[in-house]
Amino acid sequence: MTMFSRAGSITPRESVSLLPAYAAGKPPKAAEGLTPYKLSSNENPLGPVPAVVQAMAAVDTLHRYPHPNAENLRAGLAQVLDVSVEDIVAGTGSLGALTQIINAFAGSNSDGSQDEVIYAWRSFEAYPIVVRTAGAKDVTVPVLQDGRHDLEAMLAAITEQTKVLLLCTPNNPTGPALRHSEVETFLAKVPSDVVVVIDEAYQEFVRTEDPLDALALYRKHPNVAVLRTFSKAHGLAALRVGYSIAGQEITRHLRVVAAPFSVSTLAEVAALASLEHLSEVHERVDSLVAERDRVSAALAEAGWTIPEAQGNFVWLPLGEQTADFAEAAGLQALAVRGFPGEGVRVTIGEVEANDRFIELCRTYRFEA
Ligand SMILES: *Cc1c(COP(=O)(O)O)cnc(C)c1O
Repeated sequence: MTMFSRAGSITPRESVSLLPAYAAGKPPKAAEGLTPYKLSSNENPLGPVPAVVQAMAAVDTLHRYPHPNAENLRAGLAQVLDVSVEDIVAGTGSLGALTQIINAFAGSNSDGSQDEVIYAWRSFEAYPIVVRTAGAKDVTVPVLQDGRHDLEAMLAAITEQTKVLLLCTPNNPTGPALRHSEVETFLAKVPSDVVVVIDEAYQEFVRTEDPLDALALYRKHPNVAVLRTFSKAHGLAALRVGYSIAGQEITRHLRVVAAPFSVSTLAEVAALASLEHLSEVHERVDSLVAERDRVSAALAEAGWTIPEAQGNFVWLPLGEQTADFAEAAGLQALAVRGFPGEGVRVTIGEVEANDRFIELCRTYRFEA
């Protein structure tokens, strides 16, 4: 046996050692006389519709493996969305579906070069982790002052090495949604060999003029992939089920990298049941949208200037006062998500939680 002279500690790949840790939303702290609320993970406070829970309770095949590729769920989705079953690839949450796309299209190459993935920043915290773990290089383009994607700058960031470009709409954590016409114009300028991922985790909550019809764009552009999830509008975050919709030029590669059995039987059954009760799901979403608009209006009235909120959350650009505000919220038994030096993201929650948050904003001294 040959003995190598090596350092004694186990070390990960270089790209892994450079990764930021994902900071998940924290649970609320207890405070005397106050019901604690978690407003830090953009969860749906209303949960799934009752039929979902019943369908899950009826599952009697827990000893069997699930369908390898969520065949039943994809068939149900194909019908609801009016797309081909072949164009849907399911994953462990839309994060799983995104990981498939990045793994299939961007990484490090045998000649030592690194593929590039462009996305806005600040945006979804998981993007750098997924991109860098794949061995690809992330290229971030700062969002504009009002929290919108800077589409011009994103176009200008495209190079020979660009393989994937991510659009997050509504953008987590800043809130604004992209308009259909601007994405259409944007796509016309993106090289056709760059995969454009449109992350629509909050699609159901959008209420703007000229709303994005991402499925129309996927039908027109073979390089567009749309991401959707059951975690937010459907209230099924615990089950980890999401999917991508894209044409065959993309999905044939996704099927190669997608881990089989990534959607559990319980998740598939629950997601299908939720699809079968879409009008109830939409009623719940409508009530959250009404709460979001109530919160936004109350903040404006209290003198806050916040970006357009089109998801199930609002963004307070608190800058250096971020940690201070998060602490003040904590004293009110509200867990919020602070991004130090930048701002605080607050999920639209139960009515009582939203009331308490509004009251905090009314009394908090923001020295901008
Ligand atoms: C919550 C969220 C997701 C969804 O993640 P899942 O893996 O489906 O739970 C995806 N993208 C963004 C921007 C999100 O905020």
